[in-house]
Amino acid sequence: MSSGVVPASMPEITSGRPTARRFEEKVCVVTGGASGIGRAVVLRLAAEGARVAVLDMDLAGARESLELAGGETTGLAAEIDVRSSASVEAAAGLVKGQLGNADVLVNNAGIEILGTIDEMAPDVWDEIMAVNLRGPYLTSRIFLPQLLARAAERGGAAVVHNASLMGLVSSAGLAAYCASKAGVVSLTRSMALDYAKQNLRVNCVCPGIIHTPMLERRFAMQPDREQAYRDTSRRPPVQYIGRPEDVAASVAYLASDEARFVTGSALTIDGGVGAA
Ligand code: NAD
Repeated sequence: MSSGVVPASMPEITSGRPTARRFEEKVCVVTGGASGIGRAVVLRLAAEGARVAVLDMDLAGARESLELAGGETTGLAAEIDVRSSASVEAAAGLVKGQLGNADVLVNNAGIEILGTIDEMAPDVWDEIMAVNLRGPYLTSRIFLPQLLARAAERGGAAVVHNASLMGLVSSAGLAAYCASKAGVVSLTRSMALDYAKQNLRVNCVCPGIIHTPMLERRFAMQPDREQAYRDTSRRPPVQYIGRPEDVAASVAYLASDEARFVTGSALTIDGGVGAA
């Protein structure tokens, strides 16, 4: 796939070698950490000193992310299915037992299935909601005691949901995905209000088009769409497709104490698409 034109003068994201160490002594949990944006988040948080729990349905991929982040001294890799209470409970127990209570939860796991509502059978709709919306609810709910304990002990803890620009605006042929991500934006605001007094901040990122395996799968199904990006007609205003590190940098900011006065916000990372 063409990842879009990257201008020669583009500033580099310092993922993997940032100067800040904002997560020293902190335990950060990342769902969907085996691939794409989740892997970039794992690398970024680990590079800033975090002990990271890389959780994913894809255990081999989660292990690979942990290895890239520095290996077992950096944290742990474990299997999770965010649709299942039992699976999330087991992962939360593992994190608490091996790393201690979570300071940061990044709800990143997600799926995209194309279709208008007439094309989409109810079980496919339910599947998207189960992963993209019920998943962040369930994972937040199960990690909540750990996060609140840390917030009480250290003065703050944070949840960052990975929503999407599609949670703020919509795109044709993507009804369930857009609805699920709009739900995540709303969940962000509700959780922010519900736990603000307990020093738990809750924000979400709303990425636009980002070059990950999810996008490659989409372009494989819609070659005309990829061609449109190649021809520049659909490129974001900045003229290139975003990279996982672009999202990871914003997730790290929202998860860090630098964002101590930021809660309930939805940060777009979209090269200007949402402004149009
Ligand atoms: P990806 O497919 O590369 O990674 C998603 C990861 O989630 C995979 O490792 C997968 O195994 C995991 N996962 C899927 N279902 C799971 C489940 N039930 N339990 C646990 N793990 C599960 O995709 P990505 O592009 O990196 O997407 C990450 C997040 O970013 C998603 O929530 C996606 O909706 C969101 N997002 C992506 C884009 C984009 O353009 N790529 C844009 C906006 C938002």
